[in-house]
Amino acid sequence: MRASLAALAAPAAFADVEPAGGTYINNREVLLWESTRKEFREALEGGVLKAVIVPTGSTEQHNEHLAMINDTASVTLVAQQAAIALWPQVMLATPVSIGISPHWMDRKGTLSLRKETFLAVVFDICDSLKTHGVKNILVLNGHGGNVAPLRQSVPEFREKLGINIQFNSYWDAYTPEIVKKYMASGKAPGHAGEFETSFAMAAFPQRLHWEDVDYEKAKARLHIKDPASAAQEEQFAKDARLASTAKGEAMIAIAVKFVSDRLHSVIAAGA
Ligand SMILES: [Zn+2]
Repeated sequence: MRASLAALAAPAAFADVEPAGGTYINNREVLLWESTRKEFREALEGGVLKAVIVPTGSTEQHNEHLAMINDTASVTLVAQQAAIALWPQVMLATPVSIGISPHWMDRKGTLSLRKETFLAVVFDICDSLKTHGVKNILVLNGHGGNVAPLRQSVPEFREKLGINIQFNSYWDAYTPEIVKKYMASGKAPGHAGEFETSFAMAAFPQRLHWEDVDYEKAKARLHIKDPASAAQEEQFAKDARLASTAKGEAMIAIAVKFVSDRLHSVIAAGA
């Protein structure tokens, strides 16, 4: 028996692989999908776990220079930092990593769910959490195309499931004053512009390909049918050049504080 246990011992870390996430902690204790059933059960049954965040993002084009997982990675990072701030009261459910993005389908790589499919996935996750005894849920969004359908449907989910389910996008944290203070372009969240590029620079620089912020190089090879949409993304590419790590760090901290405060009130208002 001893020999087989030894064979199961964790392998040493790979010296040539850089851990992802820059300076941000990857604290598995707040991640449902990284926990064992024992850990989750004990947190629930001990009354320690008060709320679960359901992050919703997208897998979609983010201009020439940001990874397509950008929105999912951003909302998960904010949710994780907020959950760490409230540890051990809050965990994250597995993020919904494909959102509603039909408006980007003429850019290669975008994956899009139909509105009904997306909402059914979010509902079923909430239903699963309810089955296990979770009474407070914050659906936390990080992609623009998901906002209106979630805003409309989350109250219906709450009604149907009979538990406390609330909704926010993490950028609800950004008042006009905050945007004015930190964003030279005057825009947040925007799309792959100054804000999202700053966020990536601060949180996951490995997902930012700075040389491709030079949009002129790419322009001739793109086939965007709508001229207004093409002009908009060219503007965002120009805005992206205003990005900085310091701006990203400031905006992330503001979002984490906002989501932590929301979680406090979601827990206080719920069961
Ligand atoms: Zn985005």
